[in-house]
Amino acid sequence: MRLWIKDPLAVLGEGAERGIVVEGTRIVELVGRGAATATPVDATFEAGDHVLLPGLVNAHHHFYQTLARAHPAGMRLDLVPWLVALYPIWARTNARDLRLATRVALVELLLSGCTTAADHHNLFPPGLENAIDIEVEEARALGMRMTVTRGAMSFSTKDGGLPPENVVQDDEIVLADCERVARLYHNPAPGSMMRIAFAPCSPFAVHKPLMPALAELAARLDVRLHTHLCQVEDEERFCVAAHGLRPVDFLDSVGWLSARVWLAHAVHFNGEDIARLGAAGVGICHLAAADMWLAAGICPVHDFEAAGAPVGLGVDGASSNDSSNMMEAVRHSLLLQRLRYGPRVTPRDALRWATEGGAKCLGRDDIGIIAVGAEADLALFRLDAPRFSGAQDPIAALALCGAHRADRVMVKGEWRVIDGAVVGLDLAALLAEHAQAARKFA
Ligand SMILES: [Zn+2]
Repeated sequence: MRLWIKDPLAVLGEGAERGIVVEGTRIVELVGRGAATATPVDATFEAGDHVLLPGLVNAHHHFYQTLARAHPAGMRLDLVPWLVALYPIWARTNARDLRLATRVALVELLLSGCTTAADHHNLFPPGLENAIDIEVEEARALGMRMTVTRGAMSFSTKDGGLPPENVVQDDEIVLADCERVARLYHNPAPGSMMRIAFAPCSPFAVHKPLMPALAELAARLDVRLHTHLCQVEDEERFCVAAHGLRPVDFLDSVGWLSARVWLAHAVHFNGEDIARLGAAGVGICHLAAADMWLAAGICPVHDFEAAGAPVGLGVDGASSNDSSNMMEAVRHSLLLQRLRYGPRVTPRDALRWATEGGAKCLGRDDIGIIAVGAEADLALFRLDAPRFSGAQDPIAALALCGAHRADRVMVKGEWRVIDGAVVGLDLAALLAEHAQAARKFA
């Protein structure tokens, strides 16, 4: 079956002015200006009303937080007291809650044009030991491509940590479960729909020996490593107090200054730190909405890119960016980065971070681009809402006029969103069930 997505209004990709041909799970042909397809096609999708993008890649999230959006408990707090206020609320999550939270987050992402998501799950209260298995099942059911990161926290309030006692786990349990889920679910092959990564919540949330142990296990099983680092200025002080080392020296000391690693936030690093992280190929996930909401600062993304670090975008958990919308993340990052770097930051930069950049953070070159041989992960947006009327540059209009809902989304060659709705999903029933489950998080 060869499908020609024909004559899009605009396309984010070179040499595909007349569209692309999808066969099976991949893009097999780009149709350039004035050209026709090289070989006959079986079907055509007329895309004259659509802007065609590679599917967006969300490089950081916490799905469980969709049950605690716009929560009054965190409304007036900085990061650390915000975490202290919300951990006991998030700790109420049971297996059914996580299943619903995951399903809603994945649906939101798909509807926003996202085709690959990384979720950082770090909450393991009793009864939620199979959290990673639940996320894998839900992603498979919706046909979403994922990197599920197996998180970890070791220190609870009992040991001077932030989360309550019942959500942390011993290092041996963490290591054993990391190995279990990687062996069960991780597929490193090109075109893979499911990958696993290992992700301590932060370097101060776990015992130091767990960090090199996870790095060794990750190298052995060929999975990636992820953590939060330096969202707020205080973290450097925590790191020195906890480990006697500044954050980049700490990463180096535990085997994490490596191209296998991508970091969430990375707001507060100095020039020397950025050069070292870039030279090592550490990926950076910029989370503009959460950094604005928690008044954390502005990630220096151009400096990271100039230093050689891949830069991607994420939406972050729904307690600090309350909607899981990747196209809104494009707009947020564009506007925030203009505040730091001025007019040299363009909508195409933000779209590059949201596609190719995020793919690189996840260690992939088979998604995030429109190219022959790439996976057929696509997002198509219409520009017929009032907010786009009069727009001169259709690609820039997505970010500047505030696109937020894709009309069509394809993952691995299959339409998963048609006419702005997830195929085969009773959305009203899902939202009713999710809202009901969210009541106990009040
Ligand atoms: Zn996060």
